Amino acid sequence: MQIVTVNDEFTISAQIQLEDLELLAQRGIRTVICNRPDGEASDQPTLSEISAEADRLGIKTAYLPVKPGVYPDGDISAFADVLASMESPFHAFCRTGTRSISLWALTQMAAGTSRAALLELATAAGYDLSNTLPGDAASRASTGSPATHYDVLIVGGGAAGIAVASSILKRTDKLSVAIVDPADVHYYQPGWTMVGGGIFEAEDTARTMGSLIPKGVDWIKAAVGQFAPESRQVLLENSQAIGYERLVVAAGLKLDWSGVEGLVESLGRNGVTSNYRYDLAPYTWKLVSSMRSGKAVFTQPPMPIKCAGAPQKALYLSADHWTRQGVLKDISIDFFNAGAALFGVKDYVPALMEYIDRYQAQLHFSHNLTRIDGENCRAVFTQTDGEGNSAEVETDFDMIHVCPPQTAPDFIRESSLADAAGWVDVDQNTLRHKRFDDIWSLGDVMNAPNAKTAAAARMQAPIVANNLLESLELAKGIAHYNGYGSCPLTVERGKIVLAEFGYGGKLLPSFPTWILNGKRPSRLAWLLKEQILPPVYWKAMLRGKEWMVSPEQSKTANS
Ligand code: FAD
Repeated sequence: MQIVTVNDEFTISAQIQLEDLELLAQRGIRTVICNRPDGEASDQPTLSEISAEADRLGIKTAYLPVKPGVYPDGDISAFADVLASMESPFHAFCRTGTRSISLWALTQMAAGTSRAALLELATAAGYDLSNTLPGDAASRASTGSPATHYDVLIVGGGAAGIAVASSILKRTDKLSVAIVDPADVHYYQPGWTMVGGGIFEAEDTARTMGSLIPKGVDWIKAAVGQFAPESRQVLLENSQAIGYERLVVAAGLKLDWSGVEGLVESLGRNGVTSNYRYDLAPYTWKLVSSMRSGKAVFTQPPMPIKCAGAPQKALYLSADHWTRQGVLKDISIDFFNAGAALFGVKDYVPALMEYIDRYQAQLHFSHNLTRIDGENCRAVFTQTDGEGNSAEVETDFDMIHVCPPQTAPDFIRESSLADAAGWVDVDQNTLRHKRFDDIWSLGDVMNAPNAKTAAAARMQAPIVANNLLESLELAKGIAHYNGYGSCPLTVERGKIVLAEFGYGGKLLPSFPTWILNGKRPSRLAWLLKEQILPPVYWKAMLRGKEWMVSPEQSKTANS
């Protein structure tokens, strides 16, 4: 951790880890202020984990989460209250430290410190607050032109963002392109199921963001806070405006851990785990590999979620391990699913049901996890019937694998780019925004009714690249997306039911049935998942090599 000293009473840093608290204690910090909402990224310790460790070291914690780039008066006065009422010295953190130093500077400015003095302090600390502190072109988003401008600006450097940047570069070198993403690390999330199953190491699924940004693309290491589509600008968390000719939104989705009461406090101990977090997938394997008897519970929230098969993949790989260890007879398995079917595309259900029967798992449909009490190992679900009546159902557990509820990220939901449900509103064929002609979106963040998977983003990236370039007269013809997504259901170690389908559940197999029948468990599909897809992801998809996903163009958007 790099601690930045602002003054004797106040230091800041980027996201802290639990082990950093020891150092903060040695430096005499009395209060730690967290300015980052819980669950903003998938590798972030929760506030309750931080508080527990801070407590142990005699440090108090204050939770004042703020959205990047947005500092309403209420947040500034709440920050001032903490500084006035809690013990100094303080250490504040968020994802990069920008929100913390911005809040601090805004409280100091409200208390009478001059803007010039604060800018000087912030610059010495390595932060540019010239767009944050009122007094300069605070309204630049709607009036003046921004200092920085790109032909193509991509929000998000995940699976979709990097793939689309590479696909654009593959087609032309005439454009200035930038990716805005604050994350230091990029994750191959499809590998987390394998980490939870004891097959991959967590480290195999992570690479530094810097090593993946394609050559020729600028990386703006910051979070986007707001969109100003009318003036073709986005505002960063430090309120800096970046202008664009064409915008691509690929910011993924938000895992809403706090959508289940008690979950944030319970994760990572007392048998509560989730493959949806990088740091917890190894805990899944620890629990599974040490379990000899008892009750194992797996949950699935309402749709849409990323990789809709991942909750049951965790179940199958766990049950397969217990089978191999000869302990399955002493372990009961329950799958509580908020939905009404085991899998959304019915052609794959018979093969999956064979495994549910083999592992003697009990299925509970229309059961939505609402509360969890880790210490007492109890989980509460709301069960709804066909008439809309609901009742609470409670169960105990020795281990529980939770798939959290999922929504569009807050800054997307609150923007004019969103549909009524909060997702970026695109035409499902062209992936162009329905109202803003110069905006495209792909990956988990947008509202096309496809399965939210990296496989879908792989197919979408060249389509968005083509269509965006067509709008600049750098490509001919419009490419159409058929809704392709894929879900490799790891029914046992060594075999996969490979679901591949498009809009309306239409089956879209990549291989003829005689090579790979997706409706049956297959060793070849396992080989794909374990050996072939990871290098395809790192070396092809993220580098603009469009193996089996090169788009076909038609003459017009409607043809
Ligand atoms: P992400 O890859 O999540 O990237 C989003 C990026 O946006 C991040 O880098 C983030 O830092 C950035 N961002 C967020 N907020 C901002 C902001 N304000 N400003 C700028 N940048 C921002 N898919 C498959 O195809 N097959 C599988 O087997 C599979 N299994 C899965 C298993 C698990 C457990 C999980 C969690 C996912 C799985 N997936 C699978 C789904 C797949 O990983 C996602 O669908 C894919 O990563 C989506 O890509 P994305 O770019 O839309 O989002």
